[in-house]
Amino acid sequence: MTEQDEFEADSQQDVRTPILAVVGRPNVGKSTLVNRIIGRREAVVEDRPGVTRDRVSYDANWNGRAFTVVDTGGWDPEAEGLAERISAQAEVAVTLADAVLFVVDATVGITDTDEAVVKVLRKSGRPVVLAANKVDDQRTEAEAYGLWNLGLGEPFPVSALHGRGSGDLLDAVLAALPDTPPESFQPVGGPRRIAIIGRPNVGKSSLLNKLAGEERVVVDDASGTTVDPVDELVELGGKTWKFIDTAGIRKRVKTASGHEYYASLRTTTAIERAEVTVLVIDGSQSISEQDMRIIQVVRDSGRALVICFNKWDLVDDERRYYLEREYERELVQVQWAPRINVTARTGWHIDRLVPAIDKALEGWETRISTGQLNSFLGRLVAEHPHPVRGGRQPRILFGTQAQTSPPTFALFTSAKLDAGYERFIERRLREEFGFVGTPIALQVRPRE
Ligand code: GDP
Ligand code: GDP
Repeated sequence: MTEQDEFEADSQQDVRTPILAVVGRPNVGKSTLVNRIIGRREAVVEDRPGVTRDRVSYDANWNGRAFTVVDTGGWDPEAEGLAERISAQAEVAVTLADAVLFVVDATVGITDTDEAVVKVLRKSGRPVVLAANKVDDQRTEAEAYGLWNLGLGEPFPVSALHGRGSGDLLDAVLAALPDTPPESFQPVGGPRRIAIIGRPNVGKSSLLNKLAGEERVVVDDASGTTVDPVDELVELGGKTWKFIDTAGIRKRVKTASGHEYYASLRTTTAIERAEVTVLVIDGSQSISEQDMRIIQVVRDSGRALVICFNKWDLVDDERRYYLEREYERELVQVQWAPRINVTARTGWHIDRLVPAIDKALEGWETRISTGQLNSFLGRLVAEHPHPVRGGRQPRILFGTQAQTSPPTFALFTSAKLDAGYERFIERRLREEFGFVGTPIALQVRPRE
């Protein structure tokens, strides 16, 4: 595996805790079972109007393994008829969950609705654990065996009310869930990768020379890191950083034809290989189309970003006035990026670069728990519900941070959200959790 592949694999690694969805007809005991699984702690915690109403997910832990329980009983899909409604719930459950806990009332036996759910579950291929609930004593245990007929494998007899059999059930649930990813995710090994990018002549090479000094270029024997001949290892602020494609920065690659094309290809490749990008802009000149195109590539690739206005020695009061207006107008999409003003030629404010990079990487790797996210979403919706569209109001059922680097959120909703509302969610996420220096991706998954 090349380092590039490794990085791809790292950054796409799923970092959330696994999700268990609880599905079943009304009154089979789903809520009681969820309370049993989470130890009856959380259900009562946020008993305030506007918070509990849409709350369907809870953090759970069994034998030291963390997972998230989603109680589909809290949703009311708009489908007509009981069987349709429950099937609709099951469909959402299987799209969002890693495993499904299907609850059947053993004292009632198999109903048509249960059969309808089984169809959905089978089609999904998700692991299913079958709970035969309301088996309160030995005497009723025999009733659970009838549930073998569902064709989902062994039914686990349980009494959600009294706790009987819940240990075995939870063991089966853990076995069905994928391995819990490490709680604090760190891209492993090697120095952090930085790409210095920007138009020709903005001062990238001057900045790099100033940062690296003359003697600099560390050869990293210790970690055995392979250094691409175009890259350079530089020690800054007590840490070793890998600057990507410094060869492209130092030797201006000029060919008679296609110069622009190759330059931009080179920039795009450098961005892809980096974790954090430093966009250098010549402060003495207007922000250009080309700057904006580079920003677009950074956003699309999901890399962390620091904006560095160089040649500050040439920025007089008048230019500064216009620069601030341009910054607000043209760079409105990346106001979250840390910004520094420097003079590469003299080294003025160069020391501010590393803290800005650190900050951006921190935002890029921020992970918030499913519990935190859903209580945040509950508050957000209570304060600012989605506008009603065609007589209906799209609801957010559940959210989870699917990835870091960059932070990526999956939101399960009852219907498509307005673009404006999605921007509102992103803005509020940033206000609440920071995410300095990083793009945020929202993946909205409407139920219909
Ligand atoms: P849900 O609609 O599926 O969430 O069901 P609930 O958890 O609200 O339970 C419905 C009813 O069944 C309640 O009156 C519970 O007390 C009862 N119940 C739940 N689990 C058990 C159980 O294991 N045994 C018995 N006897 N009753 C139960
Ligand atoms: P690159 O093409 O982005 O690598 O830019 P260079 O580092 O080669 O710089 C282009 C020109 O801008 C050179 O003539 C530099 O001396 C000049 N330059 C770089 N940084 C500064 C600065 O902070 N102030 C001023 N006044 N000139 C600078």
